[in-house]
Amino acid sequence: MLTAKLPADRGGISRAAALLRAGALVAFPTETVYGLGANAADPSAVARIYAAKGRPADNPLIVHVASAAAISEWAVPDARARELAQSFWPGPLTLVLPGRGLFGAQTLALRMPRQQEALELLRAADRPIAAPSANRSGRPSPTSASAAYLEMQGRVEAVIFGPDADVGIESTVLDLTGPAAAVLRPGGLSAAEIAEVLGEHVDSAARPHRSPGTRYRHYAPDVAVVLLSGTDDRVLLEQARRALSARAGSWYIGLARTAPPGARGLLARDVRQLQRSLYATLLAAETEGAPIVAVLPPDSPQAAGVRDRMVRAAGGVPATDREG
Ligand code: AMP
Ligand code: MG
Repeated sequence: MLTAKLPADRGGISRAAALLRAGALVAFPTETVYGLGANAADPSAVARIYAAKGRPADNPLIVHVASAAAISEWAVPDARARELAQSFWPGPLTLVLPGRGLFGAQTLALRMPRQQEALELLRAADRPIAAPSANRSGRPSPTSASAAYLEMQGRVEAVIFGPDADVGIESTVLDLTGPAAAVLRPGGLSAAEIAEVLGEHVDSAARPHRSPGTRYRHYAPDVAVVLLSGTDDRVLLEQARRALSARAGSWYIGLARTAPPGARGLLARDVRQLQRSLYATLLAAETEGAPIVAVLPPDSPQAAGVRDRMVRAAGGVPATDREG
């Protein structure tokens, strides 16, 4: 299959929308990561997403909508869902709600992205768009058009060439189908921000049994990723120094303050930058054939999302998942 490169302008977006309406797959920019879109109401288009990604069939998809008003078309929102959509949509928050039969499932995950091009595409397509990340299953998600194209070339009809993703990791998935709101996957929005709006505690220990996707190996590039962990900066620095000196040309990904002198890779000034550049750096390490990538996740509450991705990239299971 030939994959068209579409510009992120009016013409490109309207072509992409026509492709989506006709059952095709289109990769497009969102503020979290690049998405792989298909008409969610067309079962054969949805089946093609699973085939293009090599995604396990029991890992459900997030449906993207162009407005908060569209929630009640596809799901049954309660007062919490309305309040959270009002506060955080458009943005990196996915709500899991009782569904109305889309995908033949009882529950449905919904999100309104804030990337302008994504919203224009959703409006022009005038369909609910199922969109997981535009990577083959298990690999780092693309945060740029060129990474999405490299990953999906020959598997999708088109890629919209828009800007790089600003958030850099996937949305926070919040389950509202039970009495207590619970984070199923940490992401671009922190549990604390959600709790503040709801005025109640939000359970933020990830629950792999309730969010099937979090069970699988994820976000891992084709290089050896080594996880460094600990709470003492000096111990961490020493660990990082040792990991990097074990093999010449190794990379480091973490905050600059815990980076060994002379390290190359990603030396982020803060959590935001670490989050934004994590996937691109993992893919660059793969392209350049780094023998080892040592990753050092920060342990602050705001870093929960990026920490989860770093631990998984190293093939690990985040501590919060082990109980369930
Ligand atoms: P991705 O499409 O790769 O960003 O992953 C979507 C995430 O949302 C996965 O972890 C899914 O398991 C989760 N998800 C999607 N729909 C549901 C649902 N109905 N119930 C629980 N989790 C869901
Ligand atoms: Mg994904």
